[in-house]
Amino acid sequence: MTTKEILQRARAEKRSVLTEIEAKQILQEAGIECTNTKLAASKDEAVLLSEKIGYPVVLKISSVDITHKSDAGGVKVNLKNKESVENAFDEIMKACTSQFPKADIEGISVQGMAEPGIEVIIGMTNDPSFGPVLMFGLGGVFVEVLKDVAFRIVPIERVDADEMIKEIKGRKLLEGYRGQDPADIPFLVNMLLKLSDFVENTPGIKEIDMNPVFAYQTGAMVVDARIILEEQ
Ligand code: ADP
Ligand code: MG
Repeated sequence: MTTKEILQRARAEKRSVLTEIEAKQILQEAGIECTNTKLAASKDEAVLLSEKIGYPVVLKISSVDITHKSDAGGVKVNLKNKESVENAFDEIMKACTSQFPKADIEGISVQGMAEPGIEVIIGMTNDPSFGPVLMFGLGGVFVEVLKDVAFRIVPIERVDADEMIKEIKGRKLLEGYRGQDPADIPFLVNMLLKLSDFVENTPGIKEIDMNPVFAYQTGAMVVDARIILEEQ
């Protein structure tokens, strides 16, 4: 489905939360690289998709009512074969239905296991006075505990994206710390520019959260994405 179709369908269903699959489809269309993520409605389909995508894979609950998927036991990573995919499917369903008995579950998504990288987060929120604002930070404790994030009002230019990345306190990690590979900063700058363009040209979006994005020496990959639409 195209971005236009996804947004139309969500609005027709009076739904403001998009699924990870929908969010990634939209970001992909905006030129932002995401793990290829497909919906499985059954265990058999999950196995078929895993074989098509290639092991190892990741399975995740797909429900607009469950936005914090791992907290609900809804994420299983590094599944290496048919048997582990089948077990993961059952375990995810069991955990999520017992914690969220009323959740509308459309199935379980299957995606390739991304190579580990430096975890960053890239997002957009709507500020009551400034309008759409982009956010960049390092993932995990850096954002949760240290609130080490940079913000800029949309639209941004290359120099703004550059500054956003340079001004976070943890930037040394991106530049290659203690023998770690440095991140591809020009690639991250381009991601921020693409997000800015997308937000500028797509009305009705309240929030975008790419968390985490794995940053590599060459390129970067979005492994989880969430999009919230404005209430109509
Ligand atoms: P949540 O809804 O809890 O944020 P995520 O989709 O972010 O769920 O998954 C939880 C964690 O699992 C991520 O922070 C990441 O470390 C790991 N993960 C998720 N998807 C992938 C993937 N495709 N490849 C590798 N690791 C992944
Ligand atoms: Mg996440």
